[in-house]
Amino acid sequence: MLKTCSRCGREMGITLRNVVYRNRVKIKNVPVHVCTNKQCAHSQVVEAVKDELKSLMNDLGHKPVRQDIEFERICEFSKLLVMVAEHCEETAVTSSVEQKVRDLLDLYLLAHSLGDQKWMHEIRERLTCLIC
Ligand SMILES: [Zn+2]
Repeated sequence: MLKTCSRCGREMGITLRNVVYRNRVKIKNVPVHVCTNKQCAHSQVVEAVKDELKSLMNDLGHKPVRQDIEFERICEFSKLLVMVAEHCEETAVTSSVEQKVRDLLDLYLLAHSLGDQKWMHEIRERLTCLIC
């Protein structure tokens, strides 16, 4: 279920980035896929959050007020990633836990693409158990 880069074919990782909208709004913690090939470094917004990001931008309109928005308040997947990142900073997680977390995040995206709410909920629970 790993995503490969559309430019160079390498594996892509997931990270959180700030996205600036119309030079005025800083949307924090948007999940993006980033190519692991440093020379390529291609990045794109994670498919599963595109709709939420689009509707947020629609709500903001063409002349938004200068502001910062925390995307994790709107987006479940962003919230999960923020939770994972905070946890990993606080505690030195073992690589086996880290791998499990990554697998669960991949599964979450799969469940999301299938629109399977029940499964998404289960994965969220398992992830929370793992890192809290
Ligand atoms: Zn690439």
